[in-house]
Amino acid sequence: MDQLKKEDYLAIINSIHDGLYFVDENRKIIFWNDAAERISGFSEEEVVGKCCADSILTHIDVDGNYLCEQGCPLQVTMDDKQAHEDTVYLHHKKGHRIPIHVRTSPLIDSQGNVTGAIELFTDISNQEANAMRVKELEKLALLDTLTNLANRRYLEQEIHIRLSELDRFNVPFGLFFMDIDYFKKINDKYGHEIGDEILRYTSKTFVVNSRPFDLYGRWGGEEFVAIIRNVNEKELRGIAERVRRLVERSYIIHHGRKIMVTLSIGATMAVQSDSVKSVINRADENMYQGKQEGRNKVVFR
Ligand code: GH3
Ligand code: MG
Ligand code: MG
Repeated sequence: MDQLKKEDYLAIINSIHDGLYFVDENRKIIFWNDAAERISGFSEEEVVGKCCADSILTHIDVDGNYLCEQGCPLQVTMDDKQAHEDTVYLHHKKGHRIPIHVRTSPLIDSQGNVTGAIELFTDISNQEANAMRVKELEKLALLDTLTNLANRRYLEQEIHIRLSELDRFNVPFGLFFMDIDYFKKINDKYGHEIGDEILRYTSKTFVVNSRPFDLYGRWGGEEFVAIIRNVNEKELRGIAERVRRLVERSYIIHHGRKIMVTLSIGATMAVQSDSVKSVINRADENMYQGKQEGRNKVVFR
């Protein structure tokens, strides 16, 4: 086979579906492929030459810990010279958190010295299925056009269907009522446009981290409802905590400063005697309890 030229390698690397980047031994990014740009929203010009910890990707783990300071997958692989795999959450330029599967490996020269590392990452959110759902809802006028989530009318219909499923086949489901904390202050301080941007990225954080059969919708204003199917109490609490943490760690950069919000989440399991109204009210009361307990909280009852 003829020798491949540098451009050929580049074309191959840029044609792969996974994000790929290289860092030098100081974790400065020296290469960034097209898929990395597509998945993260950051272009090559924005990241090459920066350190991966410079508030760009700011990977967090499932518990919300920032990995740049401690446990950076690239640093770990350079320290122990081993390949590693993990699931982490990266910061998208538009603000939301995306779940990714990362595989890291060290770059080692002929003398055995570590000269940098490679990270290959796969977007494991379920964006294609969601894009289809958005189209369907749009056709039926059941879409909230600011956030691309289901609207209140659709949520009410869905809860109704899930309640009859619970009644007839005993399929359990839980509900979240979620309200952004101190949102009025955000609007007052940064303006309505930034407020809207926060509503959009928060919605995206919900959707890209949801299971295909769960539904997140906008109830109105800065209030959201989620229908979480086929879970027990413990699982419901776990999902609510994860959503709370992911939103807490989502942000946009505005004039060089991070803007972020938190959520108060009321969670509840539906019971057979529930109506749409009663299950929503219970979740809403729990959310309100979370506000009284200081906000950025999950309350389950
Ligand atoms: P709390 O922690 O008690 O929930 O405080 P809060 O400020 O979030 O609550 P409040 O209900 O007083 O304020 C909600 C704000 O949400 C007021 C309204 O201006 C804002 N809001 C509602 N819908 C939208 C929208 O579509 N876009 C923007 N930017 N703001 C919105
Ligand atoms: Mg509210
Ligand atoms: Mg609020």
